[in-house]
Amino acid sequence: GKPRVAVVFGGRSSEHAISCLTAGSVIAAIDPEAYDVVPVGIARDGRWVLESGESDRLQIGSGGALPEVDATRPLIRLHQSGLVVNDAADVPSELGDVDVVMPLLHGPFGEDGTLQGLLEMAGVRYVGAGVLSSAISMDKHYMKVVLQSAGLPVLPHVLITPRGWTEDPEACRESVRALGFPVFVKPCRGGSSIGISRVDDESGLDAAVEAAREHDPRVLVEAGAGEGCRELECGVLESLDGAPQASVVAEIVVAGDHAFYDFEAKYLPDQDTLASIPADLPDDVADRVRAMALRTFAAVDAEGLARVDFFLQPDGTVVVNELNTMPGFTPTSMFPMVWKAAGIDYPALVDRLLRLALAREPGLR
Ligand code: ATP
Ligand code: MG
Ligand code: MG
Ligand code: MG
Repeated sequence: GKPRVAVVFGGRSSEHAISCLTAGSVIAAIDPEAYDVVPVGIARDGRWVLESGESDRLQIGSGGALPEVDATRPLIRLHQSGLVVNDAADVPSELGDVDVVMPLLHGPFGEDGTLQGLLEMAGVRYVGAGVLSSAISMDKHYMKVVLQSAGLPVLPHVLITPRGWTEDPEACRESVRALGFPVFVKPCRGGSSIGISRVDDESGLDAAVEAAREHDPRVLVEAGAGEGCRELECGVLESLDGAPQASVVAEIVVAGDHAFYDFEAKYLPDQDTLASIPADLPDDVADRVRAMALRTFAAVDAEGLARVDFFLQPDGTVVVNELNTMPGFTPTSMFPMVWKAAGIDYPALVDRLLRLALAREPGLR
């Protein structure tokens, strides 16, 4: 029969709504002739439900209302041997009955290796990065540790631990001062720019750390990329023979009154954010970025797909900002758009990811 695909979305992180947008588009793009789809929602409180997965509901509503998992749907309970579904007859009785899972989750408890670990324990195939790769890539501190050890350039940064901030905040401030202002203060594990602030002088630092701490007790403070920096992004996708390939390079140009590429500039309609695909760059710079994207993908041991974000400094230096193992994935998100430029349209991209995952044997790789 057709492979059965569980599309898992929503989740406990602050990127719940973005995951719903992604899932709405993906579910609509899966060819029903080729796959059976089981939409699995994780409500904001962590309960798993058998979702309806209607794509017209999983969209930004009128007035900018963001979608959510419908928590009134039948519950799916976690069970030692995987997932057990309540008495609904038309759904698999365990997660083991699905052939492949698409974990379309962004942020902690989904993109960070936790869900991937559950799937490994249950012996179920899934799309994208494995446990360690997901965990490293979600944590902006450990990601930089790994990238630096692979010889990839990253910006100077300081980690503020919960203990450090509680016991000796002045020492934390001192190490931030050494970076020089402006700095970017970020929840260590997050995404969609949620909880991130740009801080131009020391007077704004404590409030920015507290704002980041609302999302993660671990906080990363990073030196600003500098005046005149350009923001570039590059997609990495495995081909069916397993060789990762880099997309064209895209540039993000944020206009209007956004201090940086913040949540509103990323997702809300009627923003002045422009994506230029491909970016207007000399060939040698674009080639360098693509090569660094592949090295970044390999350094964190990613699989399937990733989007690597960069800064291009006015002197031509390229630094890696971060890698996302489950990048935003609506048809207007950067990752699908850079592949569209390479002739892989959205349904073909979804199909590629499912084929890659189905071809992968569960277990150590
Ligand atoms: P994503 O949605 O891509 O997962 P994220 O929440 O993980 O985003 P970052 O990509 O680290 O966050 O940062 C969000 C945005 O903040 C960047 O796209 C950029 O506009 C700005 N930014 C972050 N760090 C810096 C920096 N060091 N210097 C200048 N701008 C920065
Ligand atoms: Mg990110
Ligand atoms: Mg992200
Ligand atoms: Mg980013």
